Amino acid sequence: MRVPAEARVDLDAIGDNIGLLRERAGGAEVMAMVKAEAYGHGLVEAAGAALAGGASWLGVAKLAEALRLRAAGVTVRTLVCLGVPGEPYEDAVARDVDLTVGAVWLLDEIVRAAERAGRPARIHLKADTGMSRGGVRGRDWEALVDAALKAEAEGQVRVAGVMSHFACADEPGHPSIAAQLGAFTEMLGYAEKAGARFEVRHIANSAAALTLPEARFDLVRPGIAAYGLTPVPAAGTFGLRPAMTLVAAAALVKRVPAGSGVSYGHTYHTERDTTLAVVPAGYGDGIPRHGSNLLQVLAGGRRRTIAGRVCMDQFVIDLGGDTLAAGDEIVLFGPGDRGEPTAQEWAEALGTISYEIVTRIGSRVPRTYPGGGR
Ligand SMILES: *Cc1c(COP(=O)(O)O)cnc(C)c1O
Repeated sequence: MRVPAEARVDLDAIGDNIGLLRERAGGAEVMAMVKAEAYGHGLVEAAGAALAGGASWLGVAKLAEALRLRAAGVTVRTLVCLGVPGEPYEDAVARDVDLTVGAVWLLDEIVRAAERAGRPARIHLKADTGMSRGGVRGRDWEALVDAALKAEAEGQVRVAGVMSHFACADEPGHPSIAAQLGAFTEMLGYAEKAGARFEVRHIANSAAALTLPEARFDLVRPGIAAYGLTPVPAAGTFGLRPAMTLVAAAALVKRVPAGSGVSYGHTYHTERDTTLAVVPAGYGDGIPRHGSNLLQVLAGGRRRTIAGRVCMDQFVIDLGGDTLAAGDEIVLFGPGDRGEPTAQEWAEALGTISYEIVTRIGSRVPRTYPGGGR
C-alpha cells in the first residue's frame, strides 16, 4: 500500500450484482443508482461497471452528478431524481439528461430551459404515493399531469417516465407498501387516461426489486444492492457481493505498559503490558467517531476492537500478545470472506444502515480498482 488508507472497489462485484438484479427484474430494465459518488464507490468507475453488468440507465440525485457523467463520456440515459430551483436545466437538456419533475413550478422552469436550449426536455413525473417527501398527490398530481401533457403537446417536453419511491420497502409486509402500489397504479391510470405515453414507469428501489415482483413495472432503480449490500438485512444477502473493502496500513506499532490510557479522554486503558497499533484512518476519513471502543477491524488475522476514541486522522487498536509490522494491512470492513467485518456489521453496531457506512467514506481515502473490472 502506498497510501495510509484506501477503499478497494471490486468492479466485477458491481457488474455481477447488477447481473443478479437484472435476472430478478424479470425483463424490467435496470437503472443503477450512482448518486453520492456511487454510494462512495466512485461515480464514473461504478457507473461503467454497472453498465457492463447490464444496467441500461443511470440514476443520480443531483444534476451536477449527471453532468459529471456526461463530461466523462457516459452517454447512457441518466435520470436526475431530485428537483431543486435554479439548477442549470438548460445544460441538462443540451446534454440529454432526464429530469424528475415533482412540482408545476419546476415544470415551468424546465420548459423555459428547453425553450432556451431549442429542444424538448425529457422528464419523469414524480408521484407522491405515500412517502410524503418528493412529488405530488391528489389534485396537485392531476394539475402536474395536465400541465406536463400540455407542454408535451407544445413540444417543450417529452413526458418519458413516471415514478415514485417507497418509504418502507425494506420491511416486507409493511402495510404502506401495498398502499403505495395502489396509489401508484391509480395515479398512473389518471395520467394514461389523460393521454400520457410513458416509456418507463418505475417505483422499485433495491428492496422492492428483490422482494416485490409486482413493483417492477418497466424499470427498477437499485442502489445499495448494486454495491453488494443487502437492502433487507433480516432477509439475508440475496447472493450479493459487497464491492468495497476499506483497508489501512499500520502506521506505528509499539509496546506500552499496563494501565496506559489510550487516545483522547483515556476512555480505554490497557489491562496488561501490551502492543498497540496506530491505524491511519479517522473521522476525517469517514470512520464514525461513535465507533470508538465499539467497531472491530481485522488485524493480523484477528478481530480487534477500536481502543479508545476515533480521532480525526487515526485510531488505535490493542494487539494484546500479538504484533504487527508498520505497514501491515488492516482490514476495516469488506465482503467478510476473510473474517473481516462487513459494512452491514458496522452499521448494526452503530445503529445505522450500511448505506451510511460506505457513503460517508471521505474524499481523502483514495478509491482503487484492483483487477480493473470488465
Ligand atoms: C437512492 C434512490 C434509489 C435506490 O435506493 P436503494 O435503497 O439504495 O436501492 C432509488 N430511487 C431513488 C429515487 C433514489 O433516490
